[in-house]
Amino acid sequence: MAYSKTEKIPDKNGRYGKYGGQYVPETLMAALSELTKAYEEIRSDEKFQKEMNLLLTDYVGRPSPLYYARNLSKEMGQDIYIKREDLNHTGAHKINNAVGQALLAKRLGKHRIIAETGAGQHGVATATVCAQMGMECVVYMGEEDIKRQAPNVYRMRELGSEIVTVRSGTRTLKDAINEAIRDWVTNVQNTHYLIGSAVGPHPYPRIVADFQGVIGKESREQMLKKAGRLPDYVIACVGGGSNAIGIFSGFIDDKDVGLIGVEAAGEGLEGKHAATMSRGRPGILHGSMSYLLQDEDGQIVEAHSISAGLDYPGVGPEHSYLKDNERAVYVSATDSEALSGFRLLSRLEGIIPALEPAHALGYMQSWVPSLTKKRKILLLLSGRGDKDLETVAKFSGEVI
Ligand SMILES: *Cc1c(COP(=O)(O)O)cnc(C)c1O
Repeated sequence: MAYSKTEKIPDKNGRYGKYGGQYVPETLMAALSELTKAYEEIRSDEKFQKEMNLLLTDYVGRPSPLYYARNLSKEMGQDIYIKREDLNHTGAHKINNAVGQALLAKRLGKHRIIAETGAGQHGVATATVCAQMGMECVVYMGEEDIKRQAPNVYRMRELGSEIVTVRSGTRTLKDAINEAIRDWVTNVQNTHYLIGSAVGPHPYPRIVADFQGVIGKESREQMLKKAGRLPDYVIACVGGGSNAIGIFSGFIDDKDVGLIGVEAAGEGLEGKHAATMSRGRPGILHGSMSYLLQDEDGQIVEAHSISAGLDYPGVGPEHSYLKDNERAVYVSATDSEALSGFRLLSRLEGIIPALEPAHALGYMQSWVPSLTKKRKILLLLSGRGDKDLETVAKFSGEVI
């Protein structure tokens, strides 16, 4: 991705400044080199790009619309445009990356796919494309998450995937990732590890950012066409950072476009939260260097958010780089602010957002009133909220 014509990011060692890199067991270095090489080849391979585009169009449903949110704009006194990734097949942006990586795995001659999932959204996207492409799919999931996300577990099974219950550690996402890495070390000959966010060792952050770059590319064209100019601000939620980096990449060379990433402040920044860049320090987790939630001894601190998709103690290395060089700013919204954003969009526009992008809406409610000029704001709606209705009901003290 080119943010500046002179600087090659990531560099040949997979570094974004000091972030990124490849902190993996020696046994995986060959697989990472092989993946890097295959990826370089498919970027300019017409046949691959054609196959990919066909799937994105006819299977995923791209391009996703850009919607001028008239009622929300009126309420907020600013022009707000919404990029509708919630309308993709399976209801979120994750499918863009899953399609791309599954095709890449095929190219590598690897017909067994492994993935890890917390809330189940990435697991469902992966299980979906594996069904479509006739590939074997194994999904690692913590025992706690399996209990909390029963509908997605059923979905993955119906799609033909095997679910492996992870009982180590806190029995959640970070332990599932460790197990998936262990599987990959053992079966690397015939297995591709399909990582779901812009995290992990090089070349993953770059591959995922590129496959999600379709969001930024489409949005830029759609803004020029619909709004007659580029937005003043682009705003997206940040978990591992794939939806945000996907849309940011379309505007990164447009220096007048402000880029805003919204992390989950959970119960508040002084309590339990997942605001990795607001409150973390650089460290190494899951194969790369980036901001991390850690204690004084460097032990990982468990993240908390009302939204499972943002509940991760790390973040992609490119965001750490963008934070330090101030090309993007990173802010946060609490659980209750996200809930307020969730209600706002549902009531005003008839669109029930996923709780993840509801954080961006929640932040907008406190930020937008401080704007002194009429602005155009592009909001990335990364997914739909059907999956979150039970959580929202519970938070409000109701049961459904
Ligand atoms: C998983 C998920 C996220 C968070 O992941 P990123 O890699 O930060 O994009 C955000 N929104 C939705 C709808 C998700 O499913």
